[in-house]
Amino acid sequence: MAKPFASSADLGEKRQTLEVLADGVYALTAEGDPNVGAIEGEDFLVCFEALATPVAAREWLARLREHTGKPVRYLVLSHYHAVRVLGASAFGADVVVAHDRTRELIAERGEQDWASEYARMPRLFREPESIPGLTWPTLTFSDRLTIDLGGGRGDLVLAHCGRGHTEGDLVAWLPRQRIMFAGDLVESQAALYTGDAFHREWASATLDRVASYGALTLVGGRGAVARGADGVAAAIGQTRDFLDVLIREVGGAATLKEAFANAHRALAPRYGSWPIFEHCLPFNVSRLWDELHGIERPRIWTAERDRAVWDELQS
Ligand SMILES: [Zn+2]
Repeated sequence: MAKPFASSADLGEKRQTLEVLADGVYALTAEGDPNVGAIEGEDFLVCFEALATPVAAREWLARLREHTGKPVRYLVLSHYHAVRVLGASAFGADVVVAHDRTRELIAERGEQDWASEYARMPRLFREPESIPGLTWPTLTFSDRLTIDLGGGRGDLVLAHCGRGHTEGDLVAWLPRQRIMFAGDLVESQAALYTGDAFHREWASATLDRVASYGALTLVGGRGAVARGADGVAAAIGQTRDFLDVLIREVGGAATLKEAFANAHRALAPRYGSWPIFEHCLPFNVSRLWDELHGIERPRIWTAERDRAVWDELQS
């Protein structure tokens, strides 16, 4: 029997867990569904990631409101992917922050990405008609942006660590608490999506920079919160290993189909049971094949191209 397309048959609800990581620092994890977070300033909130629809985001905000009633001043988007950004209108944020490249990517391919991700992961799009349109960042930066949390709470540092999961990823770093929100640059016990990635840079310089912060708590894009220096190192190490194996197997193959078969064989023993592994692998291999054959920027995924790659590799 053919495998169902991407995550289209993944319709079981995931259990969401709100964790208080430190005083005024929150993460919502969901068994491998996209994670989100929030940080309290003196009299405002910074929210990290927006989920796929305003309806999904309002459920998260309702849980957050059990802990704090402060208004959302900043909504920080780690990158441009639809399941991270299209719920933005629910936050009523004064400022929507992203990397320069993220705003450009939304302009260039936001519409196509929306259609692609909706077809790949329909369950995440709760009441998709609640999405008012593309999300446009109102404040962008290229290297680093610091938000003073006020009231002696210290700073929240937003930083670009290089190209990785996309061209414009950012991480959010709380130096005082040594907590990092890493977006999809790091996954913890969840498979990587690399269909828009720069694999070789991600696996080397970018992850080196992420690791150099010395986080003691790390919230990745999906999966459990990584705790302690060892837990953080394990999450970063898993991410790097997944990339290294992918690069080795795809780089050593003569054809795209062989690349997929070899990558699947090499990765499945360790990662095959983790969320979205089967869903992501055809798109990952396709992009890495392009990257290794001199296509600098990821080609735009459309709903049609998704199906064609899936049918060629995964069926
Ligand atoms: Zn992503």
